[in-house]
Amino acid sequence: MKRTLSFLLCAALLPAAALAENKPAHWSYEGATGPQNWARLEQDFSTCKLGHNQSPIDIRKTSKAKLPALEFAYSPSPLKILDNGHTIQVNYAAGSSVTIDGKRYDLLQFHFHKPSEEKINGRSYPMVAHLVHKNAEGKLAVVAVLFQKGAENPLVQTLWDALPKEKGEAQEIAGVNIDIGKLLPATQGYYNFAGSLTTPPCSEEVNWFVLKTPVDMSDAQLKRFAHVYKHNARPVQPLNGRTVQESL
Ligand SMILES: [Zn+2]
Repeated sequence: MKRTLSFLLCAALLPAAALAENKPAHWSYEGATGPQNWARLEQDFSTCKLGHNQSPIDIRKTSKAKLPALEFAYSPSPLKILDNGHTIQVNYAAGSSVTIDGKRYDLLQFHFHKPSEEKINGRSYPMVAHLVHKNAEGKLAVVAVLFQKGAENPLVQTLWDALPKEKGEAQEIAGVNIDIGKLLPATQGYYNFAGSLTTPPCSEEVNWFVLKTPVDMSDAQLKRFAHVYKHNARPVQPLNGRTVQESL
């Protein structure tokens, strides 16, 4: 009887344990798996707690300087969109990049947070898009485009019209192309600082460029996203002596 019991127990426990090893730990934006506990969910997530250059931050005191222009070289891409369980993400076709100070970073994907993760003088914006770029050495440059409530945004509308009905792999939407360049504000002054991924594993390998000028999104469009993700923003993190540079 005892042997049967232990066999049953093992049979019940083993597959779950094996599954857990292969699957990334579940994390979220609230409760037991929320930002305060990310570091406890998995060993690889320890930087979320131990790191000293974490993102997002509240941008307050800045050092104004003549900084290099962000040289965007974006071209249209077929629309590949997914709900990854944490945000709506668009995977971008190869061939678009931003060059900063002579270094080229290729655009990989962009995604959204509500409200904006970054704050300016204590204030967050209704939403933000993070445009994730990577250079040949594997270093990331993320360009943040803040959204304010205003006119309907045509590019966002194209995305929301194609919102995935369920979480999962990226789907290519036949016949639909998007041009991420159309999301950029007319003036591209920015704040720059060293930081991290704002999601686990919170790796500190990100050069952040937060554009100072927000772009519009309509109230209806904000509400449409809220329908899928009501709140998917990590709280701001300590600056720990970092300098935020601001372009003139
Ligand atoms: Zn992000």
